[in-house]
Amino acid sequence: MDKLAIVVPCYNEEEVLKIASLTLRDVLEDLIHKGKISDDSYILFVNDGSTDRTWELIEEEHAAYPTRVCGVKLAGNVGHQFALTAGLITAKDMSDVTISIDADMQDDVTVIEEMIDKFHAGCDVVYGVRKERKTDTFFKRTTAQAFYKFMNLMGVKTIYNHADFRLMSRRAVEEFSKYKETNLFLRGMIPLIGYRTDSVYYDRKERVAGESKYPFKKMLALAFNGISSFSIKPISMILGSGIMIIFLSILAAIYALLSYFMGHVVPGWTSLILSIWFLGGMQLIAIGLVGQYIGKIYLEVKGRPRYNIEKILTGSGTKDA
Ligand code: UDP
Ligand code: MG
Repeated sequence: MDKLAIVVPCYNEEEVLKIASLTLRDVLEDLIHKGKISDDSYILFVNDGSTDRTWELIEEEHAAYPTRVCGVKLAGNVGHQFALTAGLITAKDMSDVTISIDADMQDDVTVIEEMIDKFHAGCDVVYGVRKERKTDTFFKRTTAQAFYKFMNLMGVKTIYNHADFRLMSRRAVEEFSKYKETNLFLRGMIPLIGYRTDSVYYDRKERVAGESKYPFKKMLALAFNGISSFSIKPISMILGSGIMIIFLSILAAIYALLSYFMGHVVPGWTSLILSIWFLGGMQLIAIGLVGQYIGKIYLEVKGRPRYNIEKILTGSGTKDA
């Protein structure tokens, strides 16, 4: 039987912690009762340097349900993505499968069973995907959707409308832990792991209590981090625009020379216009070229795994890698 760990990052979530604990304990009991997970499955709350009573509440829950509720206390606030990573990597050696979910219970816990079913059917990663965003404000909805579209345009593969509610098998977390980068953007990294994946669909609810810990500023930072951690396309765009301007400078040259020979130009204008266009283009190309090398260095220093072998067929039989 597979042991499930539900990983919950918490930052100043005193209003919702008890509700989250109760809700998730019910989910676990139900799944254990149905024989889908082992009876030592547990919830792992990760306290991300909260300044309120969140950690005391986690301790209380752990005292009341020692095997069911566990906790990790981070020494300070490191942000959602790091807190979640800390939780997943801690849970990896103490479980067969993990599910990450936010503390505010906006994500529908009833699809957890479906996630587990898909895991048993052979999926290593199951994404929770929002059907609609009725409960989000108009502003959050449009900005978030524009964000996914823009990410795609920039060449970052993400699952549309999927946040960080997902199931990962132990070997998927194991592979994920090999990504040593500091600029974490989990939604972009998980698809790089490979393996069989699937999605479950749900309606996102309102926060049960408290306020969003993701104000617009943090969302912008996440979006920028998402693009800059995965794509060197912006650099290629500089190079591209340099090449375009060099072409335009040919048109500008024709125009400037024509005007010159027609004779109605101020002295000095032709040579000025020609050099502005040509030099502008050359400078952009030069910056773009240097950028290409920096981009490559950037991708090298990340030291990401180059591939992930799932199975090997040899003379002595099939081996799981
Ligand atoms: N969170 C965290 N550290 C932070 C900010 C948020 O661990 O610095 C957690 C938070 O407690 C919640 C999850 O990340 O469990 C998502 O945050 P929130 O629900 O506020 O984001 P939203 O749903 O509004 O995008
Ligand atoms: Mg939320």
